[in-house]
Amino acid sequence: MLRRFARTVWLGRCPSCGQTSMFRGLGSLVEACSACGLRYDAGEGASMGSIQIGYVAGVKFALILIAVELIWGPIAAVGLDPLLPIMALSTLATLAVYRPSKALWVLVLFRFGWLRWSDGRPSDEPRETPPLPLAG
Ligand SMILES: [Zn+2]
Repeated sequence: MLRRFARTVWLGRCPSCGQTSMFRGLGSLVEACSACGLRYDAGEGASMGSIQIGYVAGVKFALILIAVELIWGPIAAVGLDPLLPIMALSTLATLAVYRPSKALWVLVLFRFGWLRWSDGRPSDEPRETPPLPLAG
């Protein structure tokens, strides 16, 4: 389970088989896994979960920076107004976790059966086994 989590969230691999990347480019999901047929599109609005995960991570990072600034004041110590650096760093942190949070959300959708196999069955049911090759 931990291996699947790391493989999916940090490497962006398919949550089912781990053989292919879920992403095309920086953050766009491919339509389906070419190895196992898991479809990554869970319908309209399903991507809101990943946006919320990224947003929460950015807000937590901002709160940590604010706490550090209030306690030790490293930004003010170098003569800067703390607001802009904290906003900029929090935005960068939000962008940095965009892809892992999207991958985490796909893993959640997969585990709870909200994704579909290429044959239309939900992802919490086993996928159809491929037909046996014909003899001869
Ligand atoms: Zn796959």
